[in-house]
Amino acid sequence: MKDSFGREINYLRVSLTDRCNLRCVYCMPENGIHNKLPHEAILTLEEMYEVIKSFVNLGITKIRFTGGEPLVRLGVVDLIEKVKKLDGIKEITMTTNGILLEDFIEPLKKAGLDRVNISLDTLDADKYREITRGGDIDKVKRAIKKAIEYDLNPVKINTVLIGGFNDDEIEDFVNLTLHYPIDVRFIELMPIGEAKNFAKSKFLPNSTVLSKVGSLEKIESEDIHSPAQYYKLPDSIGKVGLINPISCKFCKDCNRVRLTSTGKLKMCLHSDREIDLSSYLKNGADLEEAIKLAILSKEKEHELEKDIAIKKNMNEIGG
Ligand code: SAM
Ligand code: SF4
Repeated sequence: MKDSFGREINYLRVSLTDRCNLRCVYCMPENGIHNKLPHEAILTLEEMYEVIKSFVNLGITKIRFTGGEPLVRLGVVDLIEKVKKLDGIKEITMTTNGILLEDFIEPLKKAGLDRVNISLDTLDADKYREITRGGDIDKVKRAIKKAIEYDLNPVKINTVLIGGFNDDEIEDFVNLTLHYPIDVRFIELMPIGEAKNFAKSKFLPNSTVLSKVGSLEKIESEDIHSPAQYYKLPDSIGKVGLINPISCKFCKDCNRVRLTSTGKLKMCLHSDREIDLSSYLKNGADLEEAIKLAILSKEKEHELEKDIAIKKNMNEIGG
């Protein structure tokens, strides 16, 4: 499936829920979501499956489940098992905060999950509790170890770089790649959600990582569509990725679209424009036509540097 700029769109990110068991300070308000979606507004998992099936018929080969926190959605393992059986699916991945992951790893692996990205912004238990407003880092550390054991590799650690909070831990995160077969990926904080109101000093360019760790060597990425530029320490077993949505555009190689838990299709993470697919669900043929038209309207590139803040929070979009 090609968009109107000739880009092959083969990657769908699916947000299973806007709910979450954490309240990261840059993502969600302290008391949870302002406008909690009514139960009826959320697609059932059967509806979700129907939408995903249409995308796969049209050429989507890779699906990432995200949220909110995808593991708080009941039935997620069954959904993955069904999606994995669709003809054309090459890879199923998940982005999770890791809090519930340890007990899910075995069933997820059996259901067909290929890889997992785990979000972790600090290695310190107290700072973790502060940034997530109450999370227990030990659960996440145990989940990371188990994910490696169960070969959900490479396990990717997503670390949002926040000035004055974790820039003093950059070396510690990078050094993890000396001992574990993981990819540590630093993500620039985006002015989305709660972070819209953050002081300028909290937004650091990812080049900070390179100036702090001079021994990182650039390596070629195996996937040209990956938003990350990859580096390596000499003798490390893992890699370091830099995801720079603000300081470096990767729109020309963008191969992805996003489905929200209410059935809205977002062609670009940094745009408020979305197309409601939920109304097409009753008729499979129409749904595929609607998807094709939506893909043709995908934005050429984002305009983040113009300081236009999008309205939805990350927990609604899925990152
Ligand atoms: N709850 C899951 C998790 O935290 O991994 C999945 C959803 S979360 C919205 C997906 C990713 O978006 C996380 O890695 C999170 O750190 C990141 N994120 C949330 N708000 C962000 C922001 N304002 N800037 C950059 N990344 C953000
Ligand atoms: Fe929840 Fe993920 Fe947002 Fe943190 S970043 S509040 S874990 S959705």
